[in-house]
Amino acid sequence: MSAEHELVVLNPATEEVVATVPAADAADVDRAVARASAAQRTWASAAPADRARLLRRFADVVDAHVEELARLEVREAGHVLGNARWEAGNARDLLLYSAGGAERLLGRQIPVPGGWDVTFQEPLGVVGVIAPWNFPMPIAAWGSFPALAAGNAVVLKPAETTPLTALRLAELALEAGLPEHLFQVLPGYGHIAGRALVDHPDVAKIVFTGSTRTGREVMERCARLVKPVTLELGGKSPNIVFADADVKTAVDPFSFLDNSGQDCCARTRILVQEQVYDEVRELLADTLAGVRVGDPADEKTQMGPLISRQQLDRVRSLVPEDAPALRGSAPDGPGFWFPPTVLTGERHDSEAAREEIFGPVAVLLPFTDEADAIRLANDTPYGLAGSLWTRDLGRALRVSRAVKAGNLSVNSHSSVRYWTPFGGYKQSGLGRELGPDALTAFTETKNVFISTEA
Ligand code: NAD
Repeated sequence: MSAEHELVVLNPATEEVVATVPAADAADVDRAVARASAAQRTWASAAPADRARLLRRFADVVDAHVEELARLEVREAGHVLGNARWEAGNARDLLLYSAGGAERLLGRQIPVPGGWDVTFQEPLGVVGVIAPWNFPMPIAAWGSFPALAAGNAVVLKPAETTPLTALRLAELALEAGLPEHLFQVLPGYGHIAGRALVDHPDVAKIVFTGSTRTGREVMERCARLVKPVTLELGGKSPNIVFADADVKTAVDPFSFLDNSGQDCCARTRILVQEQVYDEVRELLADTLAGVRVGDPADEKTQMGPLISRQQLDRVRSLVPEDAPALRGSAPDGPGFWFPPTVLTGERHDSEAAREEIFGPVAVLLPFTDEADAIRLANDTPYGLAGSLWTRDLGRALRVSRAVKAGNLSVNSHSSVRYWTPFGGYKQSGLGRELGPDALTAFTETKNVFISTEA
């Protein structure tokens, strides 16, 4: 088989081959979309309560396989086990939430003279979902499950390095009794299968999660067909720590080390008011030294490897060994390891302070006052997430409205709940996933006027 016809899935902690999977080409995408279109017509005509019942059964089957899915995620993506269990649970919970949404997807009746005016939320048809490798299971779920609940079929292309949990989810869907071909997973290369899905005339919408660079191309290609697109892209999120804050909690290193920093919401720019800069520096030096980096399948491990050799090389190229920094430790190879790192000698406009590194690396930067903090927080092309820490309520309200980001936390680092909206400002994306409007994003609104005067 040629390299373009298969995907070799490596365990990033050991570099051992976990699986070899056939890679879809454009003809495979074409066949999958035709099958999905046929399945979608029947699914869309089913009563919402029947769709909801099947999705709840799917959730039960996922629930029975949480441990298996989590361990698969550990092997193919190097996630630490506790996080991987949360990810599988997130997929299950979103299924239940979306199932309820199927029963609550309502139209409206609008008063007009001379008749009745009603709106319907109609499914789009076949939705193409393109997922990245950093959270393979939740992001497959976020794009796919609300779409299914709204009456669509889904063709999902997982990332090259992490197709296995998505493939397993598709098997579990069939086991739960979802119609054949309604939820198909097609592993493949982005420039082949991903492009074919984006360009396919019978794919009604694309949900893309990945880098801003690829997202830009996907949007351009969708524009040619006037195809709607949701983009969940990169981030370089601030963690703004005012001097009056609970500083120790505010600089929790897992705000940027979770998933080895391969987290679009990672708080990788630690902006600290100058009065507490030295205190924060000392705290970080202590905590980084204590982070347990190693085998992600070990329950005690706090941070695993990076996803691939390519990602390790990228992080190394952006973080020179001699850069002024606080550093933890990491195992030697095999595996793709990089130590927890906080760069201390960067300017706010340097490459490391502006570019998404996507590794366990943050930059520490001082600010003077509230206006300076807002200026630095917004001085980036991204706007996905961020945290701000202060005990001053007025300041918390002012700053949370002034920072241009889709997901802000005050005195917290949390970003994601399946029942609240998620998405980015600026070059972090377009549209929102999750939350109460998640299903509506997979529908067209049809308005029908019925004359009472005929
Ligand atoms: P990537 O852009 O390289 O790839 C993402 C997906 O797109 C993969 O499935 C890939 O095969 C596919 N792809 C590549 N080229 C394509 C093309 N020309 N046409 C169609 N599909 C194509 O991103 P990545 O490196 O896998 O993921 C990391 C990035 O994802 C980071 O920038 C991260 O911030 C971002 N991300 C964003 C969110 C969010 O919700 N905003 C969530 C997770 C990850």
